[in-house]
Amino acid sequence: MMSTHARARVGSGVVLAVLIAACSTTMTGRRQLTLIDDEKMDALGVAAFTDIKQQGKVEKDRRPNTYVRCVADPILAVIPKGGAAPKDGRWEVIVFDDSTPNAFALPGGKIGVHTGMLAVATTQGQLAAVIGHEIGHVLLRHGNERMSQSIVAQSAMDAGSVALSQTRPEYRDAVVGGLGVGAQYGVLLPFSRKHESEADVVGQRFMAQAGFNPAEAIALWKKMAKLSQGTQPPEWMSTHPANETRIENLEANLPQTRELYLGARARGKRPNCVPPPVPSGN
Ligand SMILES: [Zn+2]
Repeated sequence: MMSTHARARVGSGVVLAVLIAACSTTMTGRRQLTLIDDEKMDALGVAAFTDIKQQGKVEKDRRPNTYVRCVADPILAVIPKGGAAPKDGRWEVIVFDDSTPNAFALPGGKIGVHTGMLAVATTQGQLAAVIGHEIGHVLLRHGNERMSQSIVAQSAMDAGSVALSQTRPEYRDAVVGGLGVGAQYGVLLPFSRKHESEADVVGQRFMAQAGFNPAEAIALWKKMAKLSQGTQPPEWMSTHPANETRIENLEANLPQTRELYLGARARGKRPNCVPPPVPSGN
């Protein structure tokens, strides 16, 4: 019979093998731990989005829907295919009739924008910054990385059996928390600074390639920073803290992203999306 010590050694060897096999590289060139297959992440994202659609109120008014689609489509046209993007290349964009300023994207090609976000991100460029940033989190596999870290933190041995057990209901909270849409489930985990800054970098690049002015990302975060000092900071702020560093980084990346923007404009990418009237109550 194996001693506890020996078994622990075998156990950690298995875990180590799993961890090595489960590393991937982000499009920013950083190595990350991703224990969950992209296909499984897609399935989890789709399931969470179905729940959110059932619990929330989908906006029926055509105008905000047309507007959000007008901003999202040029971005979706320029983002990299493959990797953590949905396998069929299709993204579903849903506007929710909800006055809390929030927006999110999930693996499996799902994007949700609250009407309340349109009252904060008031220009097409600011909304493009929000959507580009959220898509960035998905393509950078941040949800997968967070879930993997929390699984490893809970118990190293779980890492070996994660493939079998990750769809069990007790993983549900870790899953939705990891995806960053936990508010609906009473779980809210802010993304780390590292994740936020990566999503900023790629999000600003995406919006510029789509023909939106990357300077609008800076305007958006300055506005967010101001709002966060008020009595009712936007819900989005609790998972996306605005800070000096992020604004400085976005400003530092402006010369390169401005080149991309001017190139896109020269090639005829000139989105002209007209915001709908802000609904009363916002
Ligand atoms: Zn974020």
